[in-house]
Amino acid sequence: MNFTIQQAIIPTLNGYTTVDVQIEGEQIKAISTDSPLPPRGTVIDGRKKLLLPGFVNGHTHSSEMWQRGLIPPYPLELWLGELHEFTPPNPEQIYLSALGTAVETLLSGGTCVVDHLVLIPGKEVETVAAAVKAYQEIGIRAYIGPLIQDQSMSEGIPSGGTHREHEAYYCSTEEVLGMMQTVVDRFHQPEAGMNIMVAPTGIQLCSDGLFAGCMELSDRNSLCRHAHLLETKAQQLLAHEKYAMTAVQYLDKIGYLNPRTSLAHCIWLEDQDIAILAKTGATVVHNPLSNLRLGSGIAPILKYRQAGINVAFGCDGAASNDGQDLLEAIKIGSMLHNITDRDYQHWITPRESVEMAALGGVTGLGMEDQLGTLTEGKMADLVLYDLTNLSLLPKTDPIGLLVMGRPTQVVDRVWVRGEEIIAQGQPTRIDLKGLREALLQYGDWTTTRQSNNIAQLEQHYRQVMDLPK
Ligand SMILES: [Zn+2]
Repeated sequence: MNFTIQQAIIPTLNGYTTVDVQIEGEQIKAISTDSPLPPRGTVIDGRKKLLLPGFVNGHTHSSEMWQRGLIPPYPLELWLGELHEFTPPNPEQIYLSALGTAVETLLSGGTCVVDHLVLIPGKEVETVAAAVKAYQEIGIRAYIGPLIQDQSMSEGIPSGGTHREHEAYYCSTEEVLGMMQTVVDRFHQPEAGMNIMVAPTGIQLCSDGLFAGCMELSDRNSLCRHAHLLETKAQQLLAHEKYAMTAVQYLDKIGYLNPRTSLAHCIWLEDQDIAILAKTGATVVHNPLSNLRLGSGIAPILKYRQAGINVAFGCDGAASNDGQDLLEAIKIGSMLHNITDRDYQHWITPRESVEMAALGGVTGLGMEDQLGTLTEGKMADLVLYDLTNLSLLPKTDPIGLLVMGRPTQVVDRVWVRGEEIIAQGQPTRIDLKGLREALLQYGDWTTTRQSNNIAQLEQHYRQVMDLPK
């Protein structure tokens, strides 16, 4: 489809200018700052609107939407115990929560979602199929990394020198990798904006064999790589117990890190790890709200930026956030670091935040040549913000307000691969009212539920983490 956006406001190096933008098919064909372009196809009025490249929600788990607002304030290891205890969603719910995640991402400036998708045991391929269906229907660009592991939950907690028995994981390494191959064969269609990535959950629950199999799969099928990395202090301890080295040294040694590897959290890196990560070209995905919610810590993002590491933003799953507002994650994830470094010259400016969210996000997916900036020849994954919305008024610095303010319902239109998938702030290809009604069919208004897992894990966790009994 061809269309022309007339007189939209875009950022320049030091200010703003007004442009006409022509889109042909999936691409930005022309951008004119000087003279108006002859209108081609549908004409979009861009006056009083800010045009930016779409952001990437660089790490989330869509099906956690079903437990958002529900899990008490716990650290990750206990929070996970509760998350996985309760009935997993069915494939219909997976579909609905993927749609919900996509809508919230799109309406907060995202055009691409990285879904580290929690799988229903025994229905792994069906789970992926349900999420794929949702993302294809709504039209968002998607990277689905089926969340895989081959070790049981209790192995993710350091032993602290005590001997502990662990249950075997419900399927073998070979079965997990076989399932991944099926998923890749069935769903990986990069030219259609639907990508499968290898995404072992992290060093805490994965064997050497699983990492090796994932690397082989990613090399053979040209897949991006993803994982959680050093989200908690406990994982730092565990890496030393498990490998007698840091988690980053281990991932570097086995060759998991490359410019198409993105790593969620990265809070507990040790000093030597930063140089290693910079050398490999891997991307850090910053999930500030989840890190606060779970008390995981503050990722040293300013240090990463100074070391030349690419940084992107993510919401993380909706049960540890407990929403999917990318603008909120960008705001907190930018300002949070001002308290970690007194030298304000290191602080992240709103324009840098926007660049991290867009170009930083696509760089972690190896797509920086095709996405992430307003450039002729790149793909048209674009967001048009309404500058007449009260939260973006009065007329000051629109990007300053978008990042540091409290923008609400400011996304007017979104295009992905040149197709309009949000218009007047509403999804064009799915029925949002129908989605809300479908979500209302499940669950109950509630405040508490009893968790058996927590009771089992808590005593050991408190002991290992040196907390009072
Ligand atoms: Zn996560």
